[in-house]
Amino acid sequence: MEDLKELRKVEKFADQCMKCGFCSFFCPVYQEEKTETSLARGKNYLVKQILKGEQEFTDEMGEIIGKCLLCKRCVANCPSKTQIDRVVVAARAEMVRKKGLPLAKRFTFRKVMADRKAFGRYVRLAQKFQWLLPKSEGKIRHLPDFLKALGAGRNIPEIAKVFLRDQVKEVNKPQNGQEPKMRVGFFTGCAIDFIYPQIGIKIIDFLTRHGVEVIVPTKQNCCGAAIYFSGDFETGRYLAGENIRAFKDVDYVVTGCASCSSTLKDYEVYLPDNEEQKRSYEAFSKKIKDLTEFLTDVLQVKPEDLKLRKEFEGKTATWHDPCHLVRYQNIRNQPRQILTGLKGLKYVEMSNADACCGMGGSFSIYHYDLTKKIADKKMAGIKETDADIVVTACPGCMINLIDNTVRCEMPQKVYHIMELVE
Ligand code: SF4
Ligand code: SF4
Repeated sequence: MEDLKELRKVEKFADQCMKCGFCSFFCPVYQEEKTETSLARGKNYLVKQILKGEQEFTDEMGEIIGKCLLCKRCVANCPSKTQIDRVVVAARAEMVRKKGLPLAKRFTFRKVMADRKAFGRYVRLAQKFQWLLPKSEGKIRHLPDFLKALGAGRNIPEIAKVFLRDQVKEVNKPQNGQEPKMRVGFFTGCAIDFIYPQIGIKIIDFLTRHGVEVIVPTKQNCCGAAIYFSGDFETGRYLAGENIRAFKDVDYVVTGCASCSSTLKDYEVYLPDNEEQKRSYEAFSKKIKDLTEFLTDVLQVKPEDLKLRKEFEGKTATWHDPCHLVRYQNIRNQPRQILTGLKGLKYVEMSNADACCGMGGSFSIYHYDLTKKIADKKMAGIKETDADIVVTACPGCMINLIDNTVRCEMPQKVYHIMELVE
């Protein structure tokens, strides 16, 4: 029997599917494509065929398992609680085990992203050439697909002049000489480090003003989301080990990126390959807190602790739930509690707040046309609210929401929740 180690670990989930098709009402990809293979049911079926030895790992199979946002809307609404995300990710890992990573991904994941210093150097280099990226569609047919998507009329965020890592100290004591209530590690994440350092600075400032000692370990590494969700479990496990060591001396690990918090928590879900890893990932997972849950559940900030920045007074805000916050971490009330507690801000709920924005990490690079169609629905929900600003807690969603509000010529500006707080 063929060695299908990663798929065998999730076989029970694929077996749970009773083929009811209920997921068809919720899957954003199926809603656009209407093909069985874009649906959780179809993907489950193909994986079971592989397990039975009746299906090969062909390139077409790679396309099918690649075309999933991992948004977990199917999981949240499946009557059998089938965990399709685990089936899809394991299938990608099996594909990588069998066929290896394409050269470009191998280099990007292993030589760039998994090496914090090298990653910084490459992003700095990219910054110098950012102006070269074409601004409109149809002009870059000669570029490889992933570069083409970066320039395909997309509103690309500017790389920060100074990265967060170069603006903050490793140890940040509580302000005003207070005794630390707790010692927290700040996980920067690449988007906050390279694109939105002001968000990281705001978070560290807020926490140290509220009696928290914040450590920003220089040895922390990429969370590994893009890497292990693409099936590179080998590099994913390497990064998990790096981050566990970097944050071993703190009470909690806090991050302002919902994708990072969920990825760090979920090493224990997707990656363990032996008992020792399982125990170590489980222990690490308990320390991870998304900023929104840390503020409300651990620090227990009261509305009077939160002051709205002057420029947002009188504005109406609506909230977008990142998939990695609402479905991966079940964090729904905490950000709303923060927003409704901000005196001077009017809050309005959008009808499809927890619908995926269409980003899905590298999904939006390879399937940008689909991303735009999925985002159109999110934009319609935002338009209905008449809000002035859209608030979220995932820099990945921010990038996609900004791209699409600009593309749809909408007046709404997009902010990270912490940018609203004084
Ligand atoms: S994945 Fe769940 S919702 Fe979809 S067909 Fe299977 S059992 Fe039904
Ligand atoms: S995770 Fe999202 S995109 Fe993937 S099959 Fe489920 S609903 Fe569809």
